Amino acid sequence: MAAHPAGSLLIRNVRPYGEGEPVNVLVEDGVIASLDAPADQTADEVLEGDGGVLLPGLVDMHVHLREPGREDTETIETGSRAAARGGFTAVFTMANTKPVTDQPTIAESVWAKGQALGLCDVHPVGSITQGLKGEKITEYGMMARSDAKVRMFSDDGVCVDNPLIMRRALEYARGLDVLLAQHAEDPRLVEDGTANEGEVSGRLGLVGRPRTAEESVVIRDALLARDYGNRLHVCHASTRGTVELLRWAKDHDIAVTAEVTPHHLMLTDELITGYDGRYRVNPPLREKDDTEALREALLDGTVDCVATDHAPHGSEEKCCDFEHALPGMLGLETSLAVVAKLFVATGRADWRFVARVMSERPAEIVRLPGHGRPVAVGEPANLTVVDPHRPWTVHGGDLASKSENTPYEGLEFDARVTATVLRGKVTHSLAAEADA
Ligand SMILES: [Zn+2]
Repeated sequence: MAAHPAGSLLIRNVRPYGEGEPVNVLVEDGVIASLDAPADQTADEVLEGDGGVLLPGLVDMHVHLREPGREDTETIETGSRAAARGGFTAVFTMANTKPVTDQPTIAESVWAKGQALGLCDVHPVGSITQGLKGEKITEYGMMARSDAKVRMFSDDGVCVDNPLIMRRALEYARGLDVLLAQHAEDPRLVEDGTANEGEVSGRLGLVGRPRTAEESVVIRDALLARDYGNRLHVCHASTRGTVELLRWAKDHDIAVTAEVTPHHLMLTDELITGYDGRYRVNPPLREKDDTEALREALLDGTVDCVATDHAPHGSEEKCCDFEHALPGMLGLETSLAVVAKLFVATGRADWRFVARVMSERPAEIVRLPGHGRPVAVGEPANLTVVDPHRPWTVHGGDLASKSENTPYEGLEFDARVTATVLRGKVTHSLAAEADA
């Protein structure tokens, strides 16, 4: 972990978790020193909170920053900037880079670049199998002991479909106490499929990706985790059936956790009727019953957390017809707004809930120290300030990401991240951006 910067920061006029009267927060040497500092407290730097909600810095277990290999679509720098603008202080970038992050040297280079930039802690995820081929298991121990301290492994983008490989991976991971994260889609059931298998795909003449593809792997892996593993994480849960299976697994004390993306919470396959490649993603956008089941599951803890699956693609890869577009959507700069719209603005949950599903739980699941901690004196100053009532319209071209493939183009949201602080250093300030 990088050293705390020396110096002090005063965050004026913020409401921790959106509760109570506004306070002034003093940060000294990267640590929260006071939650009731006087407004005229001297400090090296002052951040105006404007009565906004103060949350622990957001943590994203699932992003694709595309470096190394596809720096034309995103880099650690542009991705870190997008993360900071979205309120994130730590992200986990998936192993499906070119080359694949299946060795310590690649992981160390990603980690070092993120630390040198200092905008967000960029944790590399190691691959479960060499080259994502699903055949030979990588050296988890070497990557875990490297300078990058890899603590999560995933072949995300593809599914580890061979049950024997998954069993061996779980046994190996258990010995090292690292987390395995599965992209649950049986490749034989989704071959050539581009959309959710259902009424819409039938009407449009698109080959479907059935729910069974996801659910069969989720339950198989839950049983493998019960018998051979200790911790299994399900990436981007997308179906109501997966919710039922996760509930069953948790009722049986199986150590399974799961994430849901903002797009699977908010969007449905009705959007693909214009054959717009922007809405292609794996697993695909499902139906209204699925989004509602996923929202309920996030509220009751069956699904543990939100992760963006931020997946930048170049315009030539997305602005084409649906079947030829690459799957994936941007998410880092819009996720807080989506979650606030679905849960806080509707009165279904409060800001404590947002802190739990976007910061505390992901940090706990990955066992990441220093992030997802309470907003309290003595804790690391990894913080996010949100204005719940600052309407803004999403335009792909305005985002910090190098790509523009947002599924929310032209949509207006109310909540906006106005500032982000990483160990006492301001990594994003909307006010400063406006002045620049
Ligand atoms: Zn995935």
